[in-house]
Formats: sequence, structure tokens, C-alpha cells
Amino acid sequence: MKQKRFILQENELPTQWYNIQADMVNKPLPPLNPGTREPLKAEDLFPIFAEECARQELDQTHAWIDIPEEVLEKYRFYRSTPLVRAYELEKALGTPAHIYFKNESVNPLGSHKINSALAQAYYCKQEGTTNVTTETGAGQWGTALSYAAKVFGLECAVYQVKISLQQKPYRSILMRTFGAAVTGSPSMSTRAGKDIITRDPTHLGSLGTAISEAIELATTTPHCKYTLGSVLSHVTLHQTIIGLEAEKQMQMAGEYPDTVIACFGGGSNFGGLAFPFMRHNILDGKQTEFIAAEPASCPKLTRGEFQYDFGDEAGYTPLLPMYTLGHNFKPANIHAGGLRYHGAGVIVSQLIKDGLMYGVDIPQLETFEAGILFSRTEGIVPAPESCHAIAATIREAKKCKETGEEKVILFNLSGHGLIDMTAYDQYLNGDLRNYAISDEDIKANLEDVPHII
Ligand SMILES: *Cc1c(COP(=O)(O)O)cnc(C)c1O
Repeated sequence: MKQKRFILQENELPTQWYNIQADMVNKPLPPLNPGTREPLKAEDLFPIFAEECARQELDQTHAWIDIPEEVLEKYRFYRSTPLVRAYELEKALGTPAHIYFKNESVNPLGSHKINSALAQAYYCKQEGTTNVTTETGAGQWGTALSYAAKVFGLECAVYQVKISLQQKPYRSILMRTFGAAVTGSPSMSTRAGKDIITRDPTHLGSLGTAISEAIELATTTPHCKYTLGSVLSHVTLHQTIIGLEAEKQMQMAGEYPDTVIACFGGGSNFGGLAFPFMRHNILDGKQTEFIAAEPASCPKLTRGEFQYDFGDEAGYTPLLPMYTLGHNFKPANIHAGGLRYHGAGVIVSQLIKDGLMYGVDIPQLETFEAGILFSRTEGIVPAPESCHAIAATIREAKKCKETGEEKVILFNLSGHGLIDMTAYDQYLNGDLRNYAISDEDIKANLEDVPHII
């Protein structure tokens, strides 16, 4: 019988994360202090983030970073996650390609986000923090952090994008079940929230507004630190556990990927899967292709501009060199809430400039079509975010059908969609549509970006 699932034993789990910054030939440009416009030092981030996370963020020298024993112990609750060969999907597509996916949906929180939530909560606890706060879009990050905070004995306050809070009530129930306090953003509980509501009383929130509110809470509350679920380099660092496991599991399957694909919000599940393989392109001359799948309605990788921009709406964060649609970008209200962020992480942005990877943008209806086919073949309902990776995989598998190439394709199933069934309901009822964004809108939005480059 052909083997379908590949799992690592506990003693085979990776014990270090991989920091691709150390191996990059062209390092990412430095984040800038928004006031002085000087390159940021780790100390500048200490008031906001756990100090260890701040150091990891700017570390361009250590390729391997030990995973703390306490975090490894929690990883063992659900890791390794399975690497799965999608035989049924291959058959349905009639493709000669070998399709594998790394199944990050199998932990009880339902997405990859827990891999970094545990690490960030651990470092906060170690450094004497008592409270953590964050933003959440679709709700996966908030859920993961709520649980991780509980595990390490911290209080947790989450600002959830208002529209998501309304669309996905089960997410906030889940966060409250884990003990977090949840507030819709923009809210009247912060200066930033009040300003946003005063400007636009009907504002239904964005990751940008929720980040501003969470940072404000962290900087105005003693012993409270802010945490972020994507975009930043230390978050992606923690997610490399995915790719490091996958590398060993692909070995068990006797294959090596020709193409690696993941969906793209800020880049953490993409980098988490891709960077351990990309190191062999950089160091050993491998020729693997890396594809980041983003929504056509939020196309920063394919149509954004490489500029220094803020990570949030109010402009509280450092200036980051990244592909961006502008920090005031208000994305269409698509279902893949986790992919509606205006900017890409600094590492990925540099890698795109250097031609080591590229983005593709995918219309909403094609993503759900892919998610339905995957559900009906592999028996797992994917998160709307993950559907973008599946759609990109299907595009590649169809190309193989035309050319007859037996390519090995590996994609990340970043989460399951069982709490997003309203999205599937709307798709099945024919109520969803595609959203395009015009060049004029992108251009107008980029006018608010400080043009430093
Ligand atoms: C948050 C999320 C994403 C997008 O975030 P990245 O940092 O780009 O990975 C993708 N998939 C799922 C299931 C998510 O929860």
C-alpha cells in the first residue's frame, strides 16, 4: 500500500528554529524609528514586545535559534503535524504531479498560529509580563494567543476587527472560552480607536486599526506586552518549525519539492514552510520554486509598491521596508480575513526583490472552488485563507497535466475552516463574488505612504 501520512516521533522533532536572515545574501533593509528615521535598535522595541522577540526580530547573524524547553514541551501536545500525500486530489485533477500538504490544521486551535503564540507567551512570562494584548482579524491569532496566554498564566486582551467579530461570532466565543477579553475594533476604549471613529463613524475595522489599539493598550498599561501573529520576522522564525519538520518528512517520503506554495497574509505560514527549503536554494544551489498565494482583492505582493510604511493605521509602529498597499488600505470584505493585511514582512519583501520567490493573486471564487474540491477529495474543510494555497497548487498541477511533468508540489494547509462555515454556505448559495481593485485606488492609497525609498 502507498503511504499517505508521514509523522515524526517525539524524539525526531526539531529543537531549533531557522533564521533565514543569517543566510540571505542581501539582508532586509533596517526598520526605522518613525520619529528620528534612524535604523531601529532592539531596545527601541522593548517597550512594546518581549525583549527576546525584539532581539530575534533584528538578528541577522544566528541561523539557528534554540527552541526553549518549555515551548518544546507544549509543541509536543500536537507536533509533529502530518505531512500528507493528496492522492485523491491528484486523481481528481488527473495530474502527474505529486501533491503533498503539511497539515497545520490538526491542533485544537485549528491553525499554524499557535506555533508562535506559545513562543511569544513564554518569553513574555519569562520577562515578568503579566498581561498580553493583540489584534486579530479572522480570529485565528486571537484564539491561539488566548490559549497560549492561559498555558503560561498571563491575562489576555484581544482587539478583533469589528466586521470579523460580527461575521464570525464563534471566534470570539472561543477566545472568551480560553479566558481572553475581546473588544471590537475600532473601539472607544483607546485614543487611536476614538480618532478613527471620529473620522469615520461607520468604520468596520481593519488589522491596521486593531494593531493601533492593541499597541496603545500595551504602552499605557504596566507589565503589558503586545504580541503579533504575522508579518514580523520573529513570528516567521517561530513558524519555521513547520518547514523543518516537512523537510524530514519529505525525506521519509523519498522526495524533495520542486515547488513550495503557501497562502500569504503577512508571510508567517509561507515563510514557516518555505524558508527551511529556501536555505538549500541559497546555500546548495537547489532550484525549488516558491509561490505565495494572495487574494486578488489585497494584492500587495503582485501590485503593491516597495516602500517604507507603517504596520498599522495610526502610525504607531516602526517604519518597515515592505511591499505595501499603504497603511490606510481598507480591504474588500472578503472571507479570508487573515489575508487582508496591507503589507508583507520585510524578509519576504527582500526575497521577492531578489527573485527567490514570487506572488500570485487569486480571485475569491477560485479559492472556494479549490476548497470545495479539496474537501470532497481529501476530507478536510480548509480555512478560506488556506484555499488560496490550494487554488495556486491546482493551477500548478494543471500545468503539469499539460506538460506531463511529474513535479513534486508541497503546500501548507495553514488551518481548517470549520468555524468559517458561513463562508462556505454563502459560496454554495452563489452569494459570493470576486472583488477587483483598480490601479487608481492602489495609487491613491499609496499617496499617504512616506516616500523614503
Ligand atoms: C492568519 C492566517 C493566515 C495568514 O497569515 P500568515 O502570517 O500570512 O500566515 C493564513 N492561514 C490561516 C489559517 C491563518 O489563520
